[in-house]
Amino acid sequence: MTKLFLVPTPIGNLEDITLRAISILSEVDLVLAEDTRKTSFLLKHLAIEKKIISHHKFNEHKTLDHILARMKEGETMALVSDAGTPSISDPGFLLVRACIENDIQIECLPGPTAFVPAIANSGLASERFCFEGFLPVKKGRQKRLQNLKDEDRTMVFYESPHRILKLLSQLADVLGAERNASVSRELTKIHEETIRGSLDQLTEYFSKKTPRGEFVVVVAGKK
Ligand code: SAM
Repeated sequence: MTKLFLVPTPIGNLEDITLRAISILSEVDLVLAEDTRKTSFLLKHLAIEKKIISHHKFNEHKTLDHILARMKEGETMALVSDAGTPSISDPGFLLVRACIENDIQIECLPGPTAFVPAIANSGLASERFCFEGFLPVKKGRQKRLQNLKDEDRTMVFYESPHRILKLLSQLADVLGAERNASVSRELTKIHEETIRGSLDQLTEYFSKKTPRGEFVVVVAGKK
């Protein structure tokens, strides 16, 4: 039966691919990839030869009809992003919604995603949390921050190295400099590290050390 598989891929360490992800990638008719070069590299590493077509945030509206038509003809597909789980701060949602509307089955495999190890590493309350992903760069950023002022669940943010310092200092302004937080950098990679402290201490740390790599920020909720 036609199906769309969402297949998580490693967020750094290539050994983090699951056995099932490898079988699904080997079995599907077609792989939809955010970056065909990155996915070719991964498939080559896994010794899988498969046709790959591009599906990313700049063409996902345009390619939707073509993909749906092929799935209706019986082709099974796997959607992968550059790293982690598709649809988590990555393309996926539009295609999943279109498949549901067209009675095409979806299956998301469990696997790598950056926010889960970041929460577990943080030592902050993990029984309830909210995933904020990337805050808007300019328009709407302050509003999103202000909306979190009274949030009592642990909060999780994705951020680029260019804006990490800005995010930490803005969080300190809105939530208070003493609020506990944790920054996980380069998860599963050689230079992986998790730094814990108050928002003030973390801001100071990254103002002295040039931020490099990929970051997840986890912040304690309001007491
Ligand atoms: N789909 C991915 C997932 O499931 O986590 C997220 C993709 S999003 C475009 C990229 C962001 O995820 C990065 O800017 C960073 O915030 C976070 N991220 C991805 N890999 C990471 C890693 N190895 N260490 C820390 N953060 C990471």
